[in-house]
This record gives sequence, C-alpha cells and structure tokens, in this order.
Amino acid sequence: MSKTRERIRDSQLRYSKSLGQNFLYDDDLLAALVRESGVGPEDDVLEIGPGSGSMTRHLCRAAHHVLSVELDERLIPLLRAFMEQERNFTLVQGDVMRLNLTEVTSALRKPLSVVANIPYYITTPLITHLLTCGLPLKRLALMVQKEVADKLLSAPGGEGWGMLALRAQFLSEPRLAMEVPAACFTPAPKVDSAFVVLEMRGAPAVDVRSPEDFFRVASAGFALRRKTMANALSATLRMTRSEAAALLERAGLDERVRCEQLTMPELARLSDACTAWREDRGEGSEG
Ligand code: SAM
Repeated sequence: MSKTRERIRDSQLRYSKSLGQNFLYDDDLLAALVRESGVGPEDDVLEIGPGSGSMTRHLCRAAHHVLSVELDERLIPLLRAFMEQERNFTLVQGDVMRLNLTEVTSALRKPLSVVANIPYYITTPLITHLLTCGLPLKRLALMVQKEVADKLLSAPGGEGWGMLALRAQFLSEPRLAMEVPAACFTPAPKVDSAFVVLEMRGAPAVDVRSPEDFFRVASAGFALRRKTMANALSATLRMTRSEAAALLERAGLDERVRCEQLTMPELARLSDACTAWREDRGEGSEG
C-alpha cells in the first residue's frame, strides 16, 4: 500500500462520493499523466481538486508553480502537511465553480495550464466554465469519464457531437492521452476514465463575426436536435419559420438540415447570417 493511501486511512477520512472523490495513488501512472499533460518548467498550473496531493506533488516537480483549489475542508491540513516541502505550491480552499478564477490566479504566469483529475459530478459545467470564464489558457489536461472523452473527440454527425465538443473544438484541439481503467482509482468509480489534453488554438477553429451568435445558434439547434435547423431556430430564437429558412438559404444550407449534421464552417456561415439578420433589424448581439 502506498504512503498516500496510508495517510488518508490514518487520518480517518471517508472518501466523499458527493464530492467525486476517486483518488489516484499509483506513482507510475501519476508521473505518466503529468508527462502526457505536456506541462514543463516554464508553466504555471491550476489544479482542480488536489485531493490528498498525490498528483500535486508530481505537478510541482514538473511545473514552475502549482496553485490547487480544493473544496473539501477536511483535506486542507492533510495537504498542507504533505506539500510542506514544495516551495512552488499554493493552496486555495473553495469551490472552483464559485471562485473568481481570474483573481485567484492573478499572480500566476499566463497562459495557464489546467491539470486535474476532476470531480465527475461537475464535468460538463466545469469544462464549459473553464472554456468561457476568460482565463488565458494554454491547455486543459483532464481526467474525465471515458464517455465524456468520446464526446470531446467526436466529429459532426457522430453520436457524441454536441455543445461540449463544439465549444472544446472551437477553442482547442483535444487529444486522447491515455485510457485509465476504473480499477486504478480508490475507490473505483462505476465507469472507466480517460485523460484528455485540450491544447488551446492560437485562434478559434472557424472565423465568426460573433462568437455569441455562433453558440446561440448551435445551442438552439442542439436543444432540439431531432428537429430541422429551421424549426429549431424558429422555436428557440425570436424569428419566424420563414425567417429561419431564409437564414439557412443565405448560409447556403438546406433548410431541412439538422444541427448535428453541420460542420463548424457551415455553422459559422449560419451564425454570420444570423448576425447580419440581427444587424438589419437594429439588434445588438444580446438581442
Ligand atoms: N487529484 C486527486 C487525485 O487524483 O487523487 C483527487 C481527485 S478527486 C477525483 C476530485 C477532487 O476534487 C476531490 O479532492 C474533491 O474533494 C475535489 N472537489 C470536488 N468538488 C470540488 C469543487 N467544486 N471545487 C474544488 N474541488 C472540488
């Protein structure tokens, strides 16, 4: 049994299911994950959910500085003791979904690398939050459920293609770094996992006049994914069925197309048509 596991047991802690506490203790695996993350001595890292610190220590040895955000107050003294020797480590207690991450990371080098074996109960909101909260990012290297990794890596028309994949691929190039069986975790979750690395692009994958319209149009389409895009747009955005059909025509698309069939460049054309339509009506992007 590793020392880390003993530490947890000795301190009488119970793993909290509701906080998604599935810990990793295998040092070879942790070293491989940190290697795969691509983090190097010039990088500052935001780690979410350090747990008992087993991955954090490996990160501290690879990176310039590591700032870890942990919600569970019980783990704070344990982490402080375990990380005492690490000079390039900062610990923040709080909820990653509520903290102002720009403020919390203000002293760190940008762009940041986020590395985490994330709590699975907040997977989609957390990835969406990280991609949209305005933090200058270099990459996200995340342990996620295998099913979520499949989504992040999916292509238009594929089963997992939806808002999460679109957001991720608009801003980054996701790659599967490693599949990690459930048995590698303590306690073992019900599902297998995968470590994915989302390297941020220098510029979005497609050029759009208004990213807000791009995601608004996509979200309308994916919310009613069985409907045609024309029906989805008219049901969700404030436009008539014939206005929606005209937008699709203006974008060079068949009005019967469904959102999940559209490639990113096609969606970008539709979004630009929508932006132009708004402007013709004198509406701002918030309308
Ligand atoms: N990094 C450790 C490891 O690999 O062994 C622990 C990973 S465990 C899957 C997820 C960690 O995230 C837990 O330590 C849990 O307490 C913490 N956590 C859960 N919800 C959180 C939140 N909203 N904000 C910050 N940390 C959270």
